[in-house]
Amino acid sequence: MIYKRSSELFVEAQKVIPGGVNSPVRAFKSVGRDPVFVKEAKGAYLYDEDGRKLIDYIASWGPMILGHAHKPVVDAVVEKAQKGTSFGMPTAIETEIAKLAVSMVPGIDKIRFVNSGTEACMSAVRLARGYTSREKIIKFAGCYHGHSDSFLIQAGSGAVTFGSPNSPGVTQGTAKDTLLADYNDLEGVKALFEANSNEIGAIIIEPIAGNMGCILPKQGFLEGLRELCTANGALLIFDEVMTGFRLAKGGVQELKGIQADIVTFGKVIGGGLPVGAFAARSEIMSHLAPEGPVYQAGTLSGNPLAMAAGLAMLTELNEHPEIFESLENKTAYLHKGISEVLDKHKVTHTINCIGSMISVHFAPDAVVDFKSAAAGDNPTFKKFFHGLLERGIYIAPSAYESWFLNDALSYEDLDTTIKAIDEVASVL
Ligand SMILES: *Cc1c(COP(=O)(O)O)cnc(C)c1O
Repeated sequence: MIYKRSSELFVEAQKVIPGGVNSPVRAFKSVGRDPVFVKEAKGAYLYDEDGRKLIDYIASWGPMILGHAHKPVVDAVVEKAQKGTSFGMPTAIETEIAKLAVSMVPGIDKIRFVNSGTEACMSAVRLARGYTSREKIIKFAGCYHGHSDSFLIQAGSGAVTFGSPNSPGVTQGTAKDTLLADYNDLEGVKALFEANSNEIGAIIIEPIAGNMGCILPKQGFLEGLRELCTANGALLIFDEVMTGFRLAKGGVQELKGIQADIVTFGKVIGGGLPVGAFAARSEIMSHLAPEGPVYQAGTLSGNPLAMAAGLAMLTELNEHPEIFESLENKTAYLHKGISEVLDKHKVTHTINCIGSMISVHFAPDAVVDFKSAAAGDNPTFKKFFHGLLERGIYIAPSAYESWFLNDALSYEDLDTTIKAIDEVASVL
């Protein structure tokens, strides 16, 4: 058995950590095997506790867009650490990264740093509610905005009904303020606005979804949401925790030319350290404490190590925008290669792809929302996942996840991956 050491570590972990992990997907439950424990990583590769080298297509679920242990980021963190790791007082580097982020992202004047994407989205919604004096929000089935109560609402049978909690511990009281719509269904959103007139404070959406595979907004969908929000006095929140600084310097707002009212960030913005952020124009941000009445705080927010990592990462992306093109080319190359081998072996599939995000669905029809993503063939995905892992390729352990390419991947790595998929597809 090639994963002896990982399995031993998992047994020990389960004794003292619930399920042996600090975040559920890491447990590999959906693919029915013990998780792989990582020892270290460099560039495009993970090195696991059993001494195997894996080509990494997850990049820590997004942050490591330039590959692991990227030198400018590591150097910045090491240098900072020697000067003290937390003060609970303002530091100059916070303004430095804030200025850079504001210059890269369209339509924002001010940004507040927090410690995770969850915190960013939770705070953005509070700010939107405080700003509009309205309590209800609309979210889309299959979009993930972190694990705070308002967002853990699953798809009900009808988008027009109240959401029902999908985690014990989320109260009905909270759930009733989260209205659900289907991704790419503008009519459904219109109906929600009509049924709840003057009650909806915000729409929150992954403007390109990355948490049910990679799902693109249909032509006119985001534009329609923008118009509905403006017409109804609601704020449009783009959750760019995944897409921000990954698909373009200015994220989906820049890519699609649509201006949100509040934007949330995470993942890439922290360069691999725990960072989230939310941003908006001054008029909205001024509602936030201590300037305004909407309370939001954090002992470790703006932490110097986290800011150093984030600043080094954003500086690289800002000074080398060709990285986005390089990533897009690599992803397109992989897309073409995977399509060809899956076609050759007559494996039913749909591939969604944009920039450095790609998802392979074992589904016959277009994947445009949560329902069509869920229609993919799970047993086939499991075989695919295990076959690739055996061959040293690591993709997300779930059929509903996107892959996130990093720029340390070489074309040789991509060819190795396509060859492995060719072998695995021959026995799917
Ligand atoms: C990862 C993610 C989050 C949550 O971020 P955490 O740092 O895991 O709390 C929120 N929104 C989106 C779109 C994400 O991909």
